[in-house]
Amino acid sequence: MQPLDQFAAELSRVPPTACHVQSSLTQPPSPHLAHPLPDRFPPWLLAMLSTCGITHLTPGQAEALTQLHDGRHVLFAAPNGRGLVRQLAMFQSIGIDRQGHSLWLFPFKHREQAQRQLLLQFNDQLLPDHQLSVATYDGDTPVTERRAIRQTVPHLVFTTPEMLHAGMLAYHSGWRALFQQLRFVVIADLHLYAGALATHLGHLLRRIDRLARHYGSQPQFLLTSDPLADAAHIAQILVGHACEIVHGEAWQPYDQHRVMMSTTEDVTDAGRAIASRLLQARLPSLVLTTAATAPSTLEAIDAAEQRILKREETILALSPHTPPEMVRPGVFRALLCLGLPPSITALNTWLTRLGNGHESSLAILLLTGQTPAERYLLRHPDAYQASGAQALPLTLHNPYVLQQHLLCTASEMALGTGEPYAGIYNLDDHLAYLAKRRQVIHRTEARQWTATERRPHRRLQLRWLERPYMLWNQQDTQRVGRLEAARAFRICFEGGTYLNDAHEPFHVERIDDERFRVTLRPAPGASPTQAQIQAEVSEVRPKGSVITPTYRLTFGSLEYRETITAFERLDPHTKRRQSVHMLPSRQRLSRTQGVWLHVPHHAPEVQARMRTALHTVVHVVIAALPVCLLMAPDDIQGGVHALTHDGQANLNAFFTDSHAGGSGASRALYEAGEQVLSAALSLMQQCDCQHGCPQCGIERCDSCASGIQRDREAGIELLQQVLGVTIVPASQVMLAPSAESTHTPRHLYLNLTTQKASDDVGGWQHKHLLGLGIAVIYDTASASYHVYTEETIESLMAHLQRADLIISFNTRDFDYQILQPYTDVPLPTLPTYAMLDEIQRALGYRLSFKHLLKETLGVERPDDRLDTVAWYRHAQSEAIINACRRDIDWMRDLIRQISHTGSLRYRDRTDIQHDVLLTLPFAERYG
Ligand SMILES: [Zn+2]
Ligand SMILES: [Zn+2]
Repeated sequence: MQPLDQFAAELSRVPPTACHVQSSLTQPPSPHLAHPLPDRFPPWLLAMLSTCGITHLTPGQAEALTQLHDGRHVLFAAPNGRGLVRQLAMFQSIGIDRQGHSLWLFPFKHREQAQRQLLLQFNDQLLPDHQLSVATYDGDTPVTERRAIRQTVPHLVFTTPEMLHAGMLAYHSGWRALFQQLRFVVIADLHLYAGALATHLGHLLRRIDRLARHYGSQPQFLLTSDPLADAAHIAQILVGHACEIVHGEAWQPYDQHRVMMSTTEDVTDAGRAIASRLLQARLPSLVLTTAATAPSTLEAIDAAEQRILKREETILALSPHTPPEMVRPGVFRALLCLGLPPSITALNTWLTRLGNGHESSLAILLLTGQTPAERYLLRHPDAYQASGAQALPLTLHNPYVLQQHLLCTASEMALGTGEPYAGIYNLDDHLAYLAKRRQVIHRTEARQWTATERRPHRRLQLRWLERPYMLWNQQDTQRVGRLEAARAFRICFEGGTYLNDAHEPFHVERIDDERFRVTLRPAPGASPTQAQIQAEVSEVRPKGSVITPTYRLTFGSLEYRETITAFERLDPHTKRRQSVHMLPSRQRLSRTQGVWLHVPHHAPEVQARMRTALHTVVHVVIAALPVCLLMAPDDIQGGVHALTHDGQANLNAFFTDSHAGGSGASRALYEAGEQVLSAALSLMQQCDCQHGCPQCGIERCDSCASGIQRDREAGIELLQQVLGVTIVPASQVMLAPSAESTHTPRHLYLNLTTQKASDDVGGWQHKHLLGLGIAVIYDTASASYHVYTEETIESLMAHLQRADLIISFNTRDFDYQILQPYTDVPLPTLPTYAMLDEIQRALGYRLSFKHLLKETLGVERPDDRLDTVAWYRHAQSEAIINACRRDIDWMRDLIRQISHTGSLRYRDRTDIQHDVLLTLPFAERYG
């Protein structure tokens, strides 16, 4: 075997023909962060770990275990070492107490086998009294075994989301013993839930929690994942309770060489040359290639690994879509990726599979740069090293998914009137809708909602957001595939060509929208087709906004109407349009979620250029999404549309969830905000085309058919204006969490309005019932306003928790009272400057905001507190936002006044003006 370091050096010095080294670096071993095993571990557990060679933990592992021991919900996000945390969490609780159960969810079956092996390995070292029993309860478990598991529930039950949903929650009374003593719900590999599954998971966890509480237990949630961006937000949505986020360290005990190469040739051909060098050097290597015809089952991979360990073979080729977890760490010393794996998260996971623990390893990434994500990576090789960059889109607010889960919830156990469902605050509306369809009945006397169907579970499919279309081959009546409704609409139209997974063309004969069926006929050699789609948005309802001096980004719900009237036939090789064919008009109307970007401008002559620039930005932002989010590019659609606002039509770049009801993709785009816009800007800057091209943008958006131009320069100008930058330096890759090196304190000014007036809820003593209308925050760190509503409340909480100081007027007695029902974070413990409290402390009595403004600043504040309630009722959010922003600006003026003079002015009852002396809890001067 050739020494690996020598091999890596040679590869960089003399790369194979047609391959160019773009970057090459050696990742040093990560510092050996050893944390002693916790004192609370009993001797038998310490002895077992020592026998297995585990003498210490990483600080992250230790922290996660301590938080769990203290009874908290935990999300442990780490590139490796997650399995040990899951197992030790069980031994340190159930293993010691000898009672309680734990439910483990695995998104894919092969993962549970690896976990089971690890557990059995631990058990082998223990006396029977300390061992943990485990059973797998999934679709493959024989019926007789299923009964035995239900009767004698083991400590650990491994299952899949589907089996949990239809086999356990639906028949919960048979699982009484489990639910009575359910101590943990463990979610392995959260990052693999990308897509519909993540959204369903949030509801499944609520249903488990609810049944467990009914049977008398309160399970703790342990979520484990590869590093994710926005982990706190994701955990909050999923669990519905405060969740500790613990970031674990990468454990890489030896050097890792990372070489990134580009090629202008076919990636498989170019890769062959590198693979043959690996073969010659006899380095145990893993090759990821779409050309792999190799094993995909765990058993087959296992067998191949054995042959490699025995030196009978050197190379294992796998499809890049193989979950990295199927490969055992420690077998391979080199990884060759021909093209980018499905996501950057997946790439980083593959890197953690490398190395045998006592020698250096080598990763080679060969890219063509033909896709925007590859192009981005070639320019930003740091993304190849920084893990934890991507966010996982999901939403609780997809009404179709929510209503199906509500039906299951009500059939599992009647829903009490007013029963909470964490994260959803208009449950009654959804139940009323289901009642109208006679799917639930309200029993007034019992104050309960019950489902009319006994077990509606079987109709709910956890891997889909909408009912999928079935594709049938009419010749042999075999199923060709299934498609999400949104995709079926866009790619299946009568007369068009459908390509199956193996790229075999079929002629689309018929579409049956009532039965969700598409009939196909094989059509070898048929040229590809593409629909001409036009889209309109209407009924736009904002749920959150970020307002800066240069742009306004809004998230909300909207109606999206797509129309197809024609399709194009394309040349199979050049993809150029050959002909256009008219179709009978077909429409799809969906209420969904979206994000829209508005850039204010004043001169009318820039209107046309603005349209071109926004159109370019639509293409490039969608192309940049896979860099920042764990999603497929066709989860989002885009176009340029006008919104009327204050009697004026404003152009906006729209990004809309493709799935009816929303998938969380646009919400994740909204949360990632400037990170995505920066990646988009970078993509355009590294291109040299004029009108946008497939390397710097998606090929087609929903406004292309309306004839708007694209112009790369105009797009760059627009995003530079938005981001307030002229050049994006390579070091400012937004992938890595932005390091705030010079920390200026983040002060948040908070102002909020309610849904109801005090009279509606029986007086001020019932403040907690007023409900959040709209909250506005001014963030001094970014000089921007942020708008929140009930639907974006987790983001508001996360924002408040990032503050160095929260400043508002009547904070403790009003603002926090309104917000507290939405969270289990004790709000009064947050760092707060409540002006009203300070005045009361100084004077012994209170003064109104209006009074202080008048006396100190000489301004007259209108009494519009009640108007905001009326505006809320009439969905006039803009008027509320303006009122809140005005009050915040005045609040900032008052703080500036205190900062300069140390006081505010007021007038006493005898009409004499005084100064009330106040001090601020921060030193720096304002204004
Ligand atoms: Zn381009
Ligand atoms: Zn377009």
